Amino acid sequence: MVVLLTGGTGGAKLVLGFHEETAPEDLVVVCNTGDDSLVHGLHVSPDVDTIVYTLAGLIDPAKGWGIRDDTFTVLDQLRRLGNETWFQLGDRDIATHLTRTRLLAEGQPLSRVTAALCGELGVRSTVLPMSDQRVETRLSTSEGELSFQEYFVKARWQPDVLSLRYRGIEDSRPSPGLLEAIHDAVLVVVCPSNPATSIGPVLAVPGVREALRGTPAKVAAVSPMVGGRSFSGPAHKLMATLGVEASAAGLAAAYRDFADVLVIDAEDRELQPAVEQFGVDVRATSIRMDTLADKKRLARELLRLV
Ligand code: GDP
Repeated sequence: MVVLLTGGTGGAKLVLGFHEETAPEDLVVVCNTGDDSLVHGLHVSPDVDTIVYTLAGLIDPAKGWGIRDDTFTVLDQLRRLGNETWFQLGDRDIATHLTRTRLLAEGQPLSRVTAALCGELGVRSTVLPMSDQRVETRLSTSEGELSFQEYFVKARWQPDVLSLRYRGIEDSRPSPGLLEAIHDAVLVVVCPSNPATSIGPVLAVPGVREALRGTPAKVAAVSPMVGGRSFSGPAHKLMATLGVEASAAGLAAAYRDFADVLVIDAEDRELQPAVEQFGVDVRATSIRMDTLADKKRLARELLRLV
């Protein structure tokens, strides 16, 4: 079994690579839920949905989120009715959020709701939200305190971020089966997702970090950065909130207590000694995943570690 810890868009690229290169039933994908929010009264789980849509073959490949060929009629009408519509929701996507919101209101935990959605959409891998309890990533910024979506989507990640916290994390518990999956896996991969806002919340759920330290599985992490810059989004700008520098070496510092191997870009090869000083082995290769072939190749290289 292979366990993948992930956020949304960047992590999903590698998740798809693994999905193509292994038996889907052998994959357990653990998703960040710190970005979850109520939008027009609906419970939206952006990272869970990106992963589920990716595994179901529904993802919009151009955007990296939402459903391919979706329409936005409901959003247009919401705008006409005076609602804020900076958070884009497609019509088919809204069906997911309606279903999730109903099942949660009926008392089902998010993990069971996610399993139900996966079942209906034909996903054979296991997708686990990191926790059934509500956790919310809050950023203290130059423009006040913002949720992740307010910072990332509405403010286009322009405000300076002074610090961040995962509200509710102390009272959260790992989803049923999550710690067991980490323990029973042969390989655990920390996907190239934002270390502060995607991976950070997953690692902060009580028990997860300890499970990663204690597992007999090989634990590998893939860098979301090259040359101190993210492939997309603000990951490099947020590394300081973890108290580390914005580079593959900073990533090694942040993950050193549990990571056996860090996969960095070949262009960052000169950072190998800086990574190794944290006791983390290095694989330098191409970590850019533009095509399906790139995603599959990187997944194969990771599988070769075991
Ligand atoms: P979010 O929830 O949409 O923020 O998604 P993630 O946290 O999963 O992904 C964002 C991260 O993916 C960013 O830090 C990007 O630098 C990284 N990323 C995007 N594309 C690639 C890629 O092709 N290769 C690698 N290694 N990282 C990528």
